[in-house]
Amino acid sequence: MKTFNYHSAKDVKEASKLASSSSVFLAGGMTTIPSMKLGLASYKDIINIKGIKKLSGIKVSSKTVTIGATTTHAEVAKSKEVKKAIPSLAALAEGIGDPQVRNRGTIGGSIANNDPAADYPSACIALNATIHTNNRKINAENFFKGMFETSLKKTEIIEAVEFAIPQKSSYQKLPNPASRYAIVGVYVAKHKAGINVAVTGAKPCVYNDKDLANALSKNFSPSVIENVKISSSKMNSDIHASSEYRANMVKVFAKKAVEAC
Ligand SMILES: Cc1cc2nc3c(=O)[nH]c(=O)nc-3n(C[C@H](O)[C@H](O)[C@H](O)COP(=O)(O)OP(=O)(O)OC[C@H]3O[C@@H](n4cnc5c(N)ncnc54)[C@H](O)[C@@H]3O)c2cc1C
Repeated sequence: MKTFNYHSAKDVKEASKLASSSSVFLAGGMTTIPSMKLGLASYKDIINIKGIKKLSGIKVSSKTVTIGATTTHAEVAKSKEVKKAIPSLAALAEGIGDPQVRNRGTIGGSIANNDPAADYPSACIALNATIHTNNRKINAENFFKGMFETSLKKTEIIEAVEFAIPQKSSYQKLPNPASRYAIVGVYVAKHKAGINVAVTGAKPCVYNDKDLANALSKNFSPSVIENVKISSSKMNSDIHASSEYRANMVKVFAKKAVEAC
């Protein structure tokens, strides 16, 4: 039998105070609960943060979309404001998992977990996101550190994710047919200041493909992607796809994303 202490935090301060090296925050529970049930993880303290009102909701300004950490994927997918400001972000949320996962899973849980095949990390990179925690603001480029690794400290809580509204953008993925996680996903965003091409699923951690971004900044057309060399040497290889196949899919889905822009 698994035993743990369950806490329902009333505010961020209390949640952070309860946290330790043997605790976990419970947001949607879509990773934490299956991991515990399968015996892959165990915790002394489970700190439920879903009741903290401040962590939920969507705010849109002329330049940014800010999404509270415990906002569910379903809420982002159906938000009229998000659909209007960054349609590709709402579409990304709509493509996550299945209705059960979308109704429970949260944006904060997704990026804190930093699964190599998760969709939201690519949105954070492509849309120059700022991650607001209870202690600081972190640029997306400095947030995602490696496979299931971020720059978050154990007692640090994501409060919200602030996305810059791009001129044009599109996220296209090759989904795993069972889970819908990205075997490869490419998020292209054209901002006034430059172009980002964020790739998820292909490597142990999401990354911004500078070669694709440079090529597209000279000519924003799917045709230029053909001449960009994508190396398979550091790409994931598993039962779903070889590294060579993933490298090829980065090109295919980058082209689709530029076409869709
Ligand atoms: C069947 C299935 C299919 C899925 N398909 C996809 C998919 O297609 N694409 C995709 O991207 N994802 C997919 N997911 C992942 C899912 O969408 C969730 O985003 C993910 O499981 C974590 O979010 P959560 O809110 O459930 O977090 P939880 O499971 O509650 O927590 C996960 C981790 O995040 C930490 N955490 C949570 N909230 C915060 C916070 N505010 N601050 C700091 N740390 C925090 C917790 O401490 C824990 O370590 C799938 C999951 C399942 C079970």
